[in-house]
Amino acid sequence: MSAVKQVTVVSGKGGTGKTTVLASFAALAENKVIADCDVDASNLYLLLHPEQHETGGFPGAKVAIRDEELCKRHGACEEACRFDAITVDEVDELACEGCGLCTLVCPEGALKLEPIVVGNWYIGDTRYGPMAWARLLPAAESSGRLVTLVRQKAENLAYETELGLILIDGPPGLGCTTTAALADVDMAVVVTEPTLSGIHDMERQVELIEYFGLACAVIINKHDINPENSRRLRQYCEARNMPLLGEIPFDTTVTDALTAQQPVVERNGGPAAGAIRQIWTRTCELIETL
Ligand code: SF4
Ligand code: SF4
Repeated sequence: MSAVKQVTVVSGKGGTGKTTVLASFAALAENKVIADCDVDASNLYLLLHPEQHETGGFPGAKVAIRDEELCKRHGACEEACRFDAITVDEVDELACEGCGLCTLVCPEGALKLEPIVVGNWYIGDTRYGPMAWARLLPAAESSGRLVTLVRQKAENLAYETELGLILIDGPPGLGCTTTAALADVDMAVVVTEPTLSGIHDMERQVELIEYFGLACAVIINKHDINPENSRRLRQYCEARNMPLLGEIPFDTTVTDALTAQQPVVERNGGPAAGAIRQIWTRTCELIETL
């Protein structure tokens, strides 16, 4: 276990309230760094409003790049490419597989393979603490490496500022970005909803978390929309001896908070905000035991 404790909040799919919960955790926690690792749909910044003070490009896979001055437009590259990624006029960077064949057949030496920037990372300050985040460019492929980069930035921030906790907004689902957001953290928190698909998604995610040997806890969001499914989720947690951190009721003030671009706990009075505060208290108790 690392000196800086790391907690990743994940969900089986998008829209289950994961970022809503994480933003409120960020507002309630002391002495922490925040990392938004949901790089495909990064939106934590909309709730936490970081003031960016550092950024950089994220290089993706290598693609063919043409030196237009050397090119004689005779088309050997176009004929050779099996992916229809290059013509005498242009290189389709999204279609290019970076196989390098065109660089070998070009008699003018006009082509070479170079990595292209597919996203950007950022570091900034929020009123709740320092934050690292990233955004992939449109159409760029989901990248576990970008998640790892954001986590490295967050770890650097934590060590530089001597903050003992990193709260990570993980990607939804089971892809490589989720794996990267869970690797070597101290605890994973799964946010789920009481629907059949929510139960199924949560079960698969818990299996992944258990495969990594990580401590795991669960939050049921909108528990009152289906009491029977919430009961099944409770039973599932009990059977696995997995902590149920709490249950958040359906509450229209959540939408109000999101519309106002605030963490829910910043809008006092709603039952959801009260539930999240209690959940955070339990989460802290659990973190202490790690
Ligand atoms: S093979 Fe080389 S010189 Fe010929 S069209 Fe392609 S890039 Fe241009
Ligand atoms: S690197 Fe390969 S895929 Fe890309 S343009 Fe050249 S031949 Fe086509």
